[in-house]
Parts: sequence; C-alpha cells; structure tokens
Amino acid sequence: MADYILQAEGLTKQFSGFTAVSNVSLSLERGTIHALIGPNGAGKTTCFNLLTKFLKPSAGEIRLNGRDITGLSPDAVARLGMVRSFQISAVFPQLTVLENVRLAVQRRRGGSFDFWRSKGLLRDLEPRAMELVEAVGLGDVAGVTAEALSYGRKRALELATTLALDPEIMLLDEPMAGMGHEDIGRITDLIRTAAQGRTVLLVEHNLNVVANLCDRITVLMRGEILAEGDYATVSKDPRVIEAYIGG
Ligand code: ADP
Repeated sequence: MADYILQAEGLTKQFSGFTAVSNVSLSLERGTIHALIGPNGAGKTTCFNLLTKFLKPSAGEIRLNGRDITGLSPDAVARLGMVRSFQISAVFPQLTVLENVRLAVQRRRGGSFDFWRSKGLLRDLEPRAMELVEAVGLGDVAGVTAEALSYGRKRALELATTLALDPEIMLLDEPMAGMGHEDIGRITDLIRTAAQGRTVLLVEHNLNVVANLCDRITVLMRGEILAEGDYATVSKDPRVIEAYIGG
C-alpha cells in the first residue's frame, strides 16, 4: 500500500462567492517529487496556500503523516516537519550567503542569537551552514552579501535556508520562476539532490520545466484537477494539451 505523507481531501476555497479551488483531493507519496501545475488562474497558488495553511479552506481536510492539520497554523505545521520555501527562512539582503544560512541553521537548532553568541557557539553552526552553501553551489560566493547575487543564485540561497530547517516535506512555490535555461537546469539538479530522503511538492506554471524532475504531476484547471500521473501520461492527455493551448 502506498505511504502517503500529505493528503488533502475535498479542498475548496471560495473568495466572496468565487470558487478558486473546488473539491481538490491530492495525495503525496513519501519520498517523491510531486508537481502542481496549470495555466494562470488555475488555482495553484490558492491550493499551495491551503496546503501550507496560509489560507483557511472553505471545505476539506488536510492530513500530514495521518494527523489532521486542517486547523493548525503554518508555524505549527513547520514544527511537524512541513516547511514552505521562504516561510521562516527569509533571506536578509545585507548578510552574506554564509551568514544567512547560518541563521537558518541556528533557528532549526533553537535558541536566540544572544544565546549562541554568549556561549561562543556561533562557530559550531558554521560547518553545517557551509555544507549547505556548498550543496547548493554557492561555495564561491559564501562571503558575498545576498543582495549582490544574481536572481538564480538568490533562489539557490533560499533553497539552502529552507534545507537548513531540515524539513521532512518541502513545498516550493515556483522555484524556477523568472529563470533562464541554465538556471532552470541548475535548480532542477539542486531540487533533485535536496529531495533525497524527503518529499517535495512544487508549484509550477510550465509543464516542460517539471518533465525531468517530478515523479507525479497534478494538473489544475479552473480550480479543479484536470489530470494526474507521470509526465509521459499527462503531457499526452488531450485535455492538458487543450488547457495549455487554450490557457
Ligand atoms: P494560479 O496560481 O494558478 O495562477 P491562483 O490560485 O492565484 O491561480 O488564482 C485562482 C483564481 O482565484 C484566479 O481567478 C484568481 O483571480 C482568484 N483569486 C486568487 N486569490 C484571490 C483572492 N484573495 N480574492 C479573490 N480572488 C482570488
């Protein structure tokens, strides 16, 4: 039997009478990379915000590791191991790459900055932070301030700060948005590496971008699930082709 880490059932969200997400049921298998895709206005962001608890559903239920999390706050679900990109780990533009990641590692381990400083422990966080900086390919710019990074490298830094929290399941909102071909390739590799031993859900507009990365793809259209399956299946589905041409 499949082992599902995150399950949503009958998720619905209405905004003053308009149904943005309608009766969406989604199951994420543990250890897989799952994409939620669809044309503009399909309801991806709304769905993402419902799953990460940034929005309250009008109806439906969400379970994480079998536990009903429908009524929990984003922080509470983060403590249960489900972290959304950019949630806790904002990037501080004037801190260096390494300092940003070190702060995230420190948050994961608990305690305030003063606690770590007074105990002279900040340097203890450094090896783990540097390991993450290198893992996302930013070793050569570890001492550079975040604001000086290119767009693609900023996204890599955001990924490192999310990974620093060591989530069991990671939800990424358009991690490749606004990127050129080369950066997309790099971030794809990074997500694949980061996904080892974790579950990942990513929201993406473009079907081709997720082709090499995702085990399973759910296609949304006008707030409803249009198709679901692996890339080979959904990319051939006439309804999906129509939605993308029509959308
Ligand atoms: P996507 O991320 O796939 O582009 P969204 O989830 O952002 O789609 O939006 C789905 C639909 O819900 C759109 O028609 C959008 O205009 C509408 N919508 C999203 N958020 C709100 C809101 N806060 N109030 C009213 N309508 C909204």
